[in-house]
Amino acid sequence: MLVRLRKNLSEPELAAVLSLAGQLGYEVRTLEPRRDLLELTGRGAPDHRSRFEDLVGVESILDAGEARERFQRAPGAPDTLVKVGEGRFGAGHVTVIAGPCAVESAERLAEIARGVRARGATVLRGGAYKPRTSPYSFQGTRERGLEMLARVKLETGLAVVTEVLDPRDVEAVAEVADLIQIGSRNMANSALLAEVGRQRKPVLLKRGFSATLREFCLAAEYVLAEGNPNVILCERGIRGFDPSTRNVLDVGAVAALKCMTHLPVIVDPSHAAGRGDIVRPLARAGLAAGADGVMVDVHTAPSEAHCDGHQAISLEEFGRIAADAQAMVALDGKRLSSSVELPR
Ligand code: PEP
Ligand code: MN
Repeated sequence: MLVRLRKNLSEPELAAVLSLAGQLGYEVRTLEPRRDLLELTGRGAPDHRSRFEDLVGVESILDAGEARERFQRAPGAPDTLVKVGEGRFGAGHVTVIAGPCAVESAERLAEIARGVRARGATVLRGGAYKPRTSPYSFQGTRERGLEMLARVKLETGLAVVTEVLDPRDVEAVAEVADLIQIGSRNMANSALLAEVGRQRKPVLLKRGFSATLREFCLAAEYVLAEGNPNVILCERGIRGFDPSTRNVLDVGAVAALKCMTHLPVIVDPSHAAGRGDIVRPLARAGLAAGADGVMVDVHTAPSEAHCDGHQAISLEEFGRIAADAQAMVALDGKRLSSSVELPR
């Protein structure tokens, strides 16, 4: 590990750094002529970097070396492949997730589920618990929504992703969900992250709308550190200044994340756009940037949707996105997980 010390640090500050290094079993060497650079040799562990960063005498960690965090890509190590029902994410596999923003009624959910399945989705999305900006907005169908998801899953064979908002609901949600979603508003909720880390279902972690990529990856680290290795990261747009779109789909983040981490990365162009008419080009942009999957809001009657109706797309438009995905992953030598034969 390469540690840069703060300029003009005091004797006690330096002593604290050296003492921690000793405690963790590192040999310390000053890199002459730069007396502010320490090279630490020893057996690194994922928590060491943060422990040094917390000391006042440390300016930054230039290279974590063997003390890399669990999310980090290690030289030569393979990408993580996350399996969700018939869907495969990462390590050359791409999956399309589609469904309504919220689970509304059993009939509507079943109709959308059948429609997206026939057009290439392998995983159905749908929030039973909805994280809404206003407490007066529709909060979801909650336990009833989970039951509806369980039924439609049985009927269609689709795997299901749904959001959990409260650590007390994790067990109930994990009984139905094949993939547990932590939404943007909860990206930094460490108690919730640790709770989903302690159960075995894979986790879909959405990026907070003003989170840096390191903050995003460290949120994933909370799940990994509890022993759950199956985390999928989702870029869903960050705050911009222009109201033309709800958020700004950060495609640069997709490419950069693929360099930083071995975890699969997907995009949600629906929550980025906030409008249905540009979901398709954004989905294509995400895939072009290297995304391992796409998640989109689909509704058969957007005008009746309880939330996010303006960003929902039709089944037909969804079919076009799935066909795009098929063509684009082939270009990249990847595979699309799909239980139906898609037009080429
Ligand atoms: C969602 O996917 O339903 C959702 C609420 O998204 P986000 O957390 O990205 O706002
Ligand atoms: Mn939504």
